[in-house]
Amino acid sequence: MLLGGKIAHTAAAMRTALVGLPTLRFDAMSTIGPAPVERSVIESITVKGREILVQWDDGIVLSTALRFSGEWHLYRADEMWRRETYRARVVIEVEGWVAVCFDAPIVETYRQPDRKRHPQSGGVGPNISQPKTDLSGCTQRLLDYRYGDAMIADVLMDESVVSGLGNVARSEALWAVGLSPYAKMADLSYEDCAVLIETASRIVQSDHETSPAVYGRNGHQCVRCRGTIEFKIIGNPRRNLYWCPECQGRLDRRLIPNNLLQGDHTPSHPAELMYLSDAVAARKRRKIFDDLNQLG
Ligand SMILES: [Zn+2]
Repeated sequence: MLLGGKIAHTAAAMRTALVGLPTLRFDAMSTIGPAPVERSVIESITVKGREILVQWDDGIVLSTALRFSGEWHLYRADEMWRRETYRARVVIEVEGWVAVCFDAPIVETYRQPDRKRHPQSGGVGPNISQPKTDLSGCTQRLLDYRYGDAMIADVLMDESVVSGLGNVARSEALWAVGLSPYAKMADLSYEDCAVLIETASRIVQSDHETSPAVYGRNGHQCVRCRGTIEFKIIGNPRRNLYWCPECQGRLDRRLIPNNLLQGDHTPSHPAELMYLSDAVAARKRRKIFDDLNQLG
């Protein structure tokens, strides 16, 4: 069978077994994106080229690019897997069935903005590339964003929140305000949103007169802290994101030691989270300065 035909066949089998059922288990090993909430229902399974996409009713989409090594297998709950467990990239379990994606080179999850499902977010957000745009409307849309769990880097690309913001300006604006692209919407204050939108609008309207601080500079030194700039392709459509993990640690929950995020120590208030992530970032900065001092 041709490869494309095999993928279509697999997707059809998965559709029959999984669509319409609540998810009992979802594991996407080593993928950072959002996960469907427990018992959310699988709404559709589609094929796009050599990719299989699974969509849940809470708006989460899983995209698995299979290329030539990846494969989805469908098993009965008690059946032995035909590939080694460590090669599994995604496991989805519903009653009676387990779907396992092995060896896929790219596995991502993201939240699909769906204006039909959430009409209150309505229409297209203010265009920040226009000089007379009311930026406070944009700030308000960020602040009111429906999904507290969504990452700011994704939300900046959601046209129902802000329009006229290109991909380059997204990375540059987050760097300029020192905010982690992985910061969650629920953790952002009004001031965070306002400063970010104002900065993004300034960058867009300056028409990128200065050379980018992070965009296109992965592996290079950050001009602010001498950290190494990182790069990742995220979202749908896929877009390059660049950031400096050293000086953009603010509100990044991933930087906070696990013991502080557990039990009684769970930061319950954004201010506490900000304090913790700032403390981690400050410690990193101090280490860099100590290293520089030692070098004389
Ligand atoms: Zn930096």
